[in-house]
Amino acid sequence: MFANQLVFASHNPHKIQEISDIIGPELKVTGLTELGCFEEIPEPYDTLEDNALAKARYIYDKYRVSCFADDTGLEVEALSGLPGVRSARYAGIEKNSEANVSKLLKELSGITDRRARFRTVIALVMQGREHVFEGIVKGVISHVPKGEKGFGYDPVFVPDGYDKCFAEMDAELKNKISHRKKAISKLVAFLQTFSSAAGQGLFNEDRE
Ligand code: IMP
Repeated sequence: MFANQLVFASHNPHKIQEISDIIGPELKVTGLTELGCFEEIPEPYDTLEDNALAKARYIYDKYRVSCFADDTGLEVEALSGLPGVRSARYAGIEKNSEANVSKLLKELSGITDRRARFRTVIALVMQGREHVFEGIVKGVISHVPKGEKGFGYDPVFVPDGYDKCFAEMDAELKNKISHRKKAISKLVAFLQTFSSAAGQGLFNEDRE
């Protein structure tokens, strides 16, 4: 392991790259595969916080490395916060985005209150201590899916202040205003404060 290295509890290379780009070269972010962990860590809890914390704790306890994990959900006002923590599997266990979007539009048919928000929770376990960061972007659910970019619910989520949905935006713009970006920025600000105070070795001294 490098001195300034932080593990991100994910196998998803796109997410790892996105987060590495935001964090910058000072700190090397590695995924689970690089750590030699090939398991799919379960997310069995009812809140984003519990799932993110469970994943980060699991890796910290098993490998003794500083680690962060995330969990994201789309919370729709008129559906009492659903699909929320179940966003990936809203329409079934196969995590099909098109089916999820169709189900969402069906549940909202005839409903005029279209308010929703994406919420990302990042949990960090460092030197045995736990820290949680949250990023929220508010918006509305459109009536018809549009756009080809992005993933998940992007074709029906129109962020406040914009007249197009996430799937119609370039990644650059989405990543500037997104829930994930907001949560990551809080994580980065926290790490910067700590690394300037503690210097080298902050991220690897968990290891025996
Ligand atoms: P995860 O916790 O990042 O894996 O996100 C869980 C689920 O939320 C994904 O499978 C997507 O359905 C949805 N989701 C998360 N982030 C986004 C996003 O930025 N746009 C659209 N859907 C998202």
